[in-house]
Amino acid sequence: MLRRAGPSLRHFLLERNSSAGHSLCSREAKMSRPVQARRLEGIDKNIWVEFVKLAATYSKVNLGQGFPDFPAPDFLREALTRALSGGNHMLHQYTRAFGHPPLVKVLAQFFEKLLGRDLDPMTNVMVTVGAYQALFCCFQALVDEGDEVIIIEPFFDCYEPMVKMAGGTPVFVPLRPNPPKDGKLMSSADWQLDPAELASKFSERTKAIVLNSPNNPLGKVFSRGELGLIAELCVKHDVLCISDEVYEWLVYDGKQHIRIASLQGMWERTVIIGSAGKTFSATGWKVGWVVGPDRLLQHLRTVHQNSVYHCATIAQEAVAQGFQRELMLYGKPESYFVQLPKELQQKRDWLIQSLDGVGMKPIIPEGTYFLVADISPFKSDVPDVPNSDEPYDSRFAKWMVKNKGLAAIPLSAFYSEAHKNNYTNFIRFCFAKEEATLKAASDILQKWKQEKTSS
Ligand code: PMP
Ligand code: GLN
Repeated sequence: MLRRAGPSLRHFLLERNSSAGHSLCSREAKMSRPVQARRLEGIDKNIWVEFVKLAATYSKVNLGQGFPDFPAPDFLREALTRALSGGNHMLHQYTRAFGHPPLVKVLAQFFEKLLGRDLDPMTNVMVTVGAYQALFCCFQALVDEGDEVIIIEPFFDCYEPMVKMAGGTPVFVPLRPNPPKDGKLMSSADWQLDPAELASKFSERTKAIVLNSPNNPLGKVFSRGELGLIAELCVKHDVLCISDEVYEWLVYDGKQHIRIASLQGMWERTVIIGSAGKTFSATGWKVGWVVGPDRLLQHLRTVHQNSVYHCATIAQEAVAQGFQRELMLYGKPESYFVQLPKELQQKRDWLIQSLDGVGMKPIIPEGTYFLVADISPFKSDVPDVPNSDEPYDSRFAKWMVKNKGLAAIPLSAFYSEAHKNNYTNFIRFCFAKEEATLKAASDILQKWKQEKTSS
């Protein structure tokens, strides 16, 4: 064991401070220069920090932040154990900056199949610290001061601050709900872009559009027609597409996830983002990737090599083995990418039924492991506060976790500041949960409903 000789750092600092005496203290007290970089203005609040803390403090059942409470698959955990304690001690050291070679190779093979084109693992794939860092690299590498970036609302919350940190201007375009007239439950497919409104957002200032299909929070899986429209506008205005596809395998009812990069004219202008956290139900591993043309990825590599450099070798090795297994079993019933959506679809249906049963009308998601539900029938318990700056759904979700022990996320968290009051009757549940967790949530809702009807 190495031990540092001589006085400790703490000892050194104490000595220095006491010899500097009074003058150092007064100089410290006078420090008045602003310390915060301007790029952080207005983005210091974060929904996850706030609601994760609330859930940790009050929740009995947590359907808020999106993560599975069931174990990651055995084959993945075994791969990690092998990587950790197997013979290759170099797996504890740095690996290639832009992705551990076995992982970029298998990702390239996998995406060659999905996209129907040849890929170079060294230039068309980069491994990142989760999809978060992939997104960060995209915005830092591709967006300049004054550039506009189109974001489709509702959206995964970090897109807006990341665009702003890069000096860009987010331009929002909404998915608008068209409730079915036959009294049926709404589906995420009923939330649609208005083609003319979308077209009106593109201008010579537009650098990129962020597409998230399947979409968090609605679970919308964009159709070929919708993607075609976006693609046409991107080509027409020479715009890039940052395509966040972290829920690519979580698609239900036989729907198909279509990759916009496979549409005419899109490969050269699209960066595809993925996440092992979603793909293998291991959100804590923080392994993500980007797939795209070298002319775009070369700039992402510059950001990556000057920020995190690379992500944990051992996690990349295990994810590589996970993908090797999935490549072998591609399309077969034993494939995790076939089994996981089947299991999640059952959980989705179960939660839909129990929400519908208490009158909290769910919007049926076509994909992801999220479900948005209408809280209107429960509003009498949490009265509105007129002129409050906080959207109603946010106060409702806070009240619910504190008083009922059930955690969910307000839909307004997925809207820009300017539009956060547009839809405030909805909360988002995560259904990637064990049966017992979903049952406990349903029990809370039923008891609440009974209390309401008997009072
Ligand atoms: N994109 C979307 C749409 C997400 O929901 C998330 C949340 N996990 C991420 C990106 C970030 O993924 P990761 O955990 O791999 O960083
Ligand atoms: N992506 C997850 C969600 O939407 C969690 C994101 C986070 O905790 N930062 O719930």
